[in-house]
Amino acid sequence: MFDSAATTKPLPMIDPFGRSIDYLRVSVTDRCDFRCVYCMSENMAFLPKKDLLTLEELDRLCSAFIAKGVRKLRLTGGEPLVRKDVMTLFRSLSRHLDRGALDELTVTTNGSQLARYAADLAACGVRRINVSLDTLDPAKFRAITRWGDLDAVLRGIDAALAAGIHVKINAVALRGVNEAEIESLVTWAHGKGMDISFIEVMPLGDIEPSRLEQYLPLSLVRARLGERWTLTESEHRTGGPARYVEVAETGGRIGFITPMTHNFCESCNRVRITCTGTLYMCLGQDDAADLRAPLRASEADDLLFEAIDRAIARKPRGHDFIIDRRTRQPAVSRHMSMTGG
Ligand code: SAM
Repeated sequence: MFDSAATTKPLPMIDPFGRSIDYLRVSVTDRCDFRCVYCMSENMAFLPKKDLLTLEELDRLCSAFIAKGVRKLRLTGGEPLVRKDVMTLFRSLSRHLDRGALDELTVTTNGSQLARYAADLAACGVRRINVSLDTLDPAKFRAITRWGDLDAVLRGIDAALAAGIHVKINAVALRGVNEAEIESLVTWAHGKGMDISFIEVMPLGDIEPSRLEQYLPLSLVRARLGERWTLTESEHRTGGPARYVEVAETGGRIGFITPMTHNFCESCNRVRITCTGTLYMCLGQDDAADLRAPLRASEADDLLFEAIDRAIARKPRGHDFIIDRRTRQPAVSRHMSMTGG
């Protein structure tokens, strides 16, 4: 449907550290129907709608990256499923699955709109999704998300499972907030046949509570889980940064995403695009490349490919996240919702 003009065959993306870039995360909107306390401040200013790339432009950008070797594509945000007509984009991108150019089309969502879209996602070839859920306690859920309704999310998860989609739960580990609930989250997720990953909170963007208050190292979480269950290292990988253990008693897997206690930058295979077409080569650094201008400058993709090559050539080695008493500033001023979580 949105195919772009013919162009020269692009080169695969290898960064200066020899890492092959085959995973693209695309934020299709910076808006969200939740205001999670670790992600956004209460009064966020969002981009004017006219600044967003159109769905056709997003498709063209994604297709250019696929031509350059991307095999895994994740739509995220903000909340991707609140973008108007987002299913048109999924539908059109699914052609790359059909022709074998893409291994996986997936989404990270807060689940609020899943009951409505699960069957459509499955029909577009989406086989696995990540749903972010930090607690099963309705009052706590409301406190963390400020605006969210736990029931709607749980209905969404059930709809996705019923549509045959594999759901992985992602929970940010928050000191004193869901810390006591980690085991029950695992029991619940594994009981429904879902894997669950825990994430360390990262210093991205200014928020009201201090990061130090929120930060719970996963080394501690893992040690506690190990007292309750038999954990065995797993070779399971999903193309992302999570390192998994298998739980003998439940038969399920737990992932640990540890940007703070053990950074995984040496194996980084991804880049991110915002909904305005800015390419970030690292979640935790400020350097970026504008892809909107080359995208709009020509119907052929040559200028776009050149801009992508120049950007990949300066992908940094990694991030320098610090959360401690002396470091008051976030590592980058962008909230996660802008870069795309
Ligand atoms: N709205 C979608 C969702 O909730 O999954 C996609 C975007 S959201 C920014 C993606 C993920 O980033 C969520 O799992 C969220 O919990 C996580 N996240 C947001 N801010 C974070 C931070 N400062 N540190 C760690 N994870 C964060």
